Amino acid sequence: MNILILGNGQLGQMLGKAVIQQGHQCLLYSDREHKVMALASDQSVALSLEEAKDWADVVTWEHEHLGEDLVERTQDKFLLKPERFHQLTDRRTQKALCDELSIPTAPWKAYQNVAELQAILGQCEQAVVIKSARGGYDGKGQWRWKPGQDIAAIAEDAGQHPGIVEDMIPFTDEVSVVAARDHHGEQRGYPLTLNVHRDGILAYSMAGAQQFSEQLEAMAQQYHQKLTDHIDYVGVLAIEFFVVGEGEQQQLLVNEVAPRVHNSGHWTMSGANCDQFNLHIRCITGLPLPEFLVAPTLMINAIGVDGLPQVLWEASAADCHWYGKAPRPGRKVGHVNFMIDTFERGQKLATQWCDELQKLA
Ligand code: ATP
Ligand code: MG
Ligand code: MG
Repeated sequence: MNILILGNGQLGQMLGKAVIQQGHQCLLYSDREHKVMALASDQSVALSLEEAKDWADVVTWEHEHLGEDLVERTQDKFLLKPERFHQLTDRRTQKALCDELSIPTAPWKAYQNVAELQAILGQCEQAVVIKSARGGYDGKGQWRWKPGQDIAAIAEDAGQHPGIVEDMIPFTDEVSVVAARDHHGEQRGYPLTLNVHRDGILAYSMAGAQQFSEQLEAMAQQYHQKLTDHIDYVGVLAIEFFVVGEGEQQQLLVNEVAPRVHNSGHWTMSGANCDQFNLHIRCITGLPLPEFLVAPTLMINAIGVDGLPQVLWEASAADCHWYGKAPRPGRKVGHVNFMIDTFERGQKLATQWCDELQKLA
């Protein structure tokens, strides 16, 4: 089959490799340079987006912030209705969808402008996170506010674009479910992934070490199935959650939905028989879902560094991935997967290497 991937960043490249691995052809569209590109190449291909779309059997995407009416221009090859895509792209409609489906999310209110944001904050009795409705990632487009702090300045800044005000959640953990739904509506996911953020950016993820209760695992898969069934989604979709409560009372609150492969699923490149990229391509080309075999794995993001230390390349338990991007502060430029034996060992390794890499950034 011919597959066109919208977006030419690291996720697009990793999807592209899976396309080739499964015996298909792929092209990528760089929405930054407005060019159709070949996989693993700086060279553009002499095709317009429309020509690439006509060439493709299926159009998929690496991220959901697609401008230029890309969705409308390629929709006849999309496996998701454009209105569903847009619904998930805007935090307001995404949160409203969770509410509609009774999937618990952090309590929220929408605002349109400075005045509305001011009014909401004026009524607020607890700490909140203010988030732009569109376009944010890696903690960009977010503000934190708590009672007693000045309202006017933050509202003037954050209220320039529509957004949401969300209660600050005192979570015990952050987790994500990365799972897929196929053409027949079958759904299957990897075990819950523990995610630890630093400065709003994912620092490391860990999975497969049986960190979470069966009840929590089942809850996450059930929410995923409910959501993807409702929108008739085909492929990999990730949901980020906050874990709240203790023991039997543990609950999941949705933080956000990412209708695509996800950074917190990168551990599957070393820790699963079928990684999230291959899983997505299997789904969109109509293959059945595989059974998963997983091994405990830690994934550490390399952020803002201009290379990985030689000891990591040399370490037999480390699987290094470099994206070939120029380093900039806060930019994800690679990741390292570690095989781990226990959760505790993984935590130690994670803290040690996150600190180490942070010093190099
Ligand atoms: P991503 O790169 O995952 O797309 P993003 O920019 O879309 O990130 P969020 O996932 O909404 O942003 O938030 C980033 C991080 O900020 C969360 O993973 C969490 O650590 C923290 N955070 C966000 N919202 C809340 C909240 N309501 N309560 C507590 N912490 C929060
Ligand atoms: Mg996000
Ligand atoms: Mg997030």
